[in-house]
Amino acid sequence: MELKLYNTLTRSKEVFGPIDPDHVRMYVCGPTVYDYAHIGNARPVIVFDVLFRLLRHVYGAERVTYVRNITDVDDKINARAARDYPELPLNEAIRKVTEATNDQFQADVKALGCLEPTAQPRATEHIETMKAMIERLVRLQVAYVADGHVLFSPSAMNARSGPRYGALSRRPFDEMLAGARVDVASYKRDEMDFVLWKPSKPGEPGWPSPAGIEGLGRPGWHIECSAMSMAKLLEPFGGGLICDDPTKNVFDIHGGGIDLVFPHHENEIAQSCCALGTQKMASIWMHNGFLQVEGRKMSKSEGNFVTINELLNTDKFGGRRWPGEVLRLAMLMTHYREPIDFSVRKLEEAEAVLAKWRRRTAGASTGEVPSAIVEALGDDLDMATVFRLMNDASLAPEALLAAGDVVGLDLRELTTHIDVAAFVARRLAFIREKNWAEADRIRDELLAEGIQLKDGKDPATGERVTTWEVKR
Ligand code: AMP
Ligand code: ZN
Repeated sequence: MELKLYNTLTRSKEVFGPIDPDHVRMYVCGPTVYDYAHIGNARPVIVFDVLFRLLRHVYGAERVTYVRNITDVDDKINARAARDYPELPLNEAIRKVTEATNDQFQADVKALGCLEPTAQPRATEHIETMKAMIERLVRLQVAYVADGHVLFSPSAMNARSGPRYGALSRRPFDEMLAGARVDVASYKRDEMDFVLWKPSKPGEPGWPSPAGIEGLGRPGWHIECSAMSMAKLLEPFGGGLICDDPTKNVFDIHGGGIDLVFPHHENEIAQSCCALGTQKMASIWMHNGFLQVEGRKMSKSEGNFVTINELLNTDKFGGRRWPGEVLRLAMLMTHYREPIDFSVRKLEEAEAVLAKWRRRTAGASTGEVPSAIVEALGDDLDMATVFRLMNDASLAPEALLAAGDVVGLDLRELTTHIDVAAFVARRLAFIREKNWAEADRIRDELLAEGIQLKDGKDPATGERVTTWEVKR
């Protein structure tokens, strides 16, 4: 089957074929674990989960390696740790923040129906690899040491033969320069130069520095992904720094949100291509569009965000909880490269579609996925066509179930997922009226259906929150 994917590098849809015909390798930039993930952060996770499922379907589950990293060293993490655990030594506080945040993230994306990637490397587990890469870049004279830092020089890269800095984002050099000016430090030879390694203050997380620098330091953000993709997607396949066959130092697909194109992915490419002697880091670069609220990108800094956890477990958005599948379907109803406006209406629309599909599949067992659906997915994840085919009333319930599986929507789940939220809301209303008999009746009826309610309190607001789980 022919798979076509839009490549940001060439700005066109390309026929995809893995470099190693027996194995597909994909890397997606993961979260920086300092705070709850918002629903915008969930978009790349869901989009690339669909691609992961499709690749497994086409090539076989054992023949796809999907790596999504965890960035657990970052100044935002340090700041959060110092704020939340002032009484603890910083390194201990950092561990608490990153572990709790990562656990939450894993639970959130599981509730959104995402498979676990093949590997989820943490930056702190790959510091030695980063240092080895940095040393190589210094030896090649595309990076230099200044004032305890190691900096990468895009202009030194462009003075060599090989790939050009800026080829992915296609920004003119002077425009990139303007962007870089926000962060001009005296130790930089050139405004464009970016950090590979920086010194740590006492108490901050730090590791013995590379390139002859005295004292402890820590890596910059960009080098983390170059090192982790090398460790997980090149070295196990015979590539890496010790390999002198450049063809072994490229993997298949690299993904992330569109905001990562510049500077993050541009810098990843610069580091990896120079250190590994290749023309490209990955064959195909894929980027999801933004999830927006009233036309503005959802982000922590804009303050217009709602966390995945709040959507799943509180009534902060639209006055009710939203099942993971509804959030997932709402996300997939827009093509992954287009912006999505996130709204209650969109979620209600997804919920109605899901309920309709579930009514159709009731009692059916899983069949074959229609090839037209796989082909539509293989056309750069053309979900509009996939959903049109799934909505076709003449599609057999068995095929509909199987199609749901390929895109990670479990249509087998009882309609309860949809209905429990409504029961919980009604019960809460009875509780507020102190009508305990009715409240208990709802609880017991749900229990008889295998749904157990659990009452608790939101630690932040002190309000009653009811969660539930299916007891089988
Ligand atoms: P961050 O934690 O900001 O580094 O983001 C983690 C991932 O989420 C990256 O792939 C971002 O591109 C992506 N991302 C962040 N905000 C949004 C948004 N509003 N819409 C879509 N993707 C986003
Ligand atoms: Zn990255």
